[in-house]
Amino acid sequence: MDNKQSLLSDSKRILTGDRPTGKMHLGHYVGSLKNRVKLQDSYDQFVMIADVQALTDNFENPEKVRASIREVLLDYLAVGIDPTKTTILIQSMIPEIAELTVYYLNLVTLERVLRNPTVKDEIKQKRFEKSLPAGFAMYPVSQAADITIFNADLVPVGEDQVPMIEQTREIVRKFNSLYGDVFVEPEALVGEVKRLPGIDGNSKMGKSLGNAIYLSDSEEELKKKVMGMYTDPTRIHATDPGKVEGNPVFIYHDVFNPDKDEVEDLKDRYQKGTVGDVEVKEKLFVALNDFLKPIRERRKDFENNSEELNKILKVGTEKARNVAKETMQKVRKAMKIDYF
Ligand code: ATP
Ligand code: MG
Repeated sequence: MDNKQSLLSDSKRILTGDRPTGKMHLGHYVGSLKNRVKLQDSYDQFVMIADVQALTDNFENPEKVRASIREVLLDYLAVGIDPTKTTILIQSMIPEIAELTVYYLNLVTLERVLRNPTVKDEIKQKRFEKSLPAGFAMYPVSQAADITIFNADLVPVGEDQVPMIEQTREIVRKFNSLYGDVFVEPEALVGEVKRLPGIDGNSKMGKSLGNAIYLSDSEEELKKKVMGMYTDPTRIHATDPGKVEGNPVFIYHDVFNPDKDEVEDLKDRYQKGTVGDVEVKEKLFVALNDFLKPIRERRKDFENNSEELNKILKVGTEKARNVAKETMQKVRKAMKIDYF
């Protein structure tokens, strides 16, 4: 018994999460969700719905953030994240994270935060160059608090988040060297597809980019998106030889079509100019629809059960808050601010 308990408490911890800014898409699945479903059996996994972070660039739209919490939770359950194995929590309901963020802000410079390549890209994308909300600029610091308050060893994320984990490691090293060893340095675990492109050819599929295929898209929506996908722009006729590398239609075929012979045949004929875009896209539609069908169905099972959904969030958040409180006690002690 004792042995078993210590084995359990020794299991390594995962922290990861998503911004409630919309429904989840294929990029989330291959970048992070797939790993979470796999690892929830062997890790003590915490998954955060990061509403505080979502508000940093959606502060004028709290209704969207609130409504998206439910969508993100439904997507988790639909892909197989099991709330009996994974603790699902809402970030803003754990004020200790905000508290830790304040102390971390002392350990980074403005210059360092603004050098983060993902933050740089996002500032451009969101047209924040001339007036940058301070809360948005600091979100990587808040993310360091998210990860470390749960003392996570591993963070399954897409490639765009790797600079955040690097920054978190720097903050941990600085904290530990100033105040004593409190935190572990977390590691990023990037999915088998590091960055799934969008249906418009943009290098990243993103909720806020309007170029996503959602896990909950209906068959009709999926068909419309796939048939309208960006392919090789230089190919005008089906008899023109086309480019396969970097072509999102073929990237998706490689990732989601289990019939590898079919994919090879399509690539071969595309390069020779003996297959039309329509056939390539129709076959992709079939493969994606087969992949999404069971996910859509599982989502429906949960959709009408608001009571169960609320309970999952409430139980998970309470459990997570207890862990966060324990960590903050250690932090307060280490920083000599545990007055009474
Ligand atoms: P937003 O546009 O609001 O930032 P997003 O689509 O980027 O939304 P996030 O909630 O920021 O989604 O990211 C959740 C997780 O999914 C992160 O680990 C991120 O790296 C990963 N991810 C997001 N988009 C992709 C993608 N296209 N390919 C691989 N991983 C991705
Ligand atoms: Mg993002």
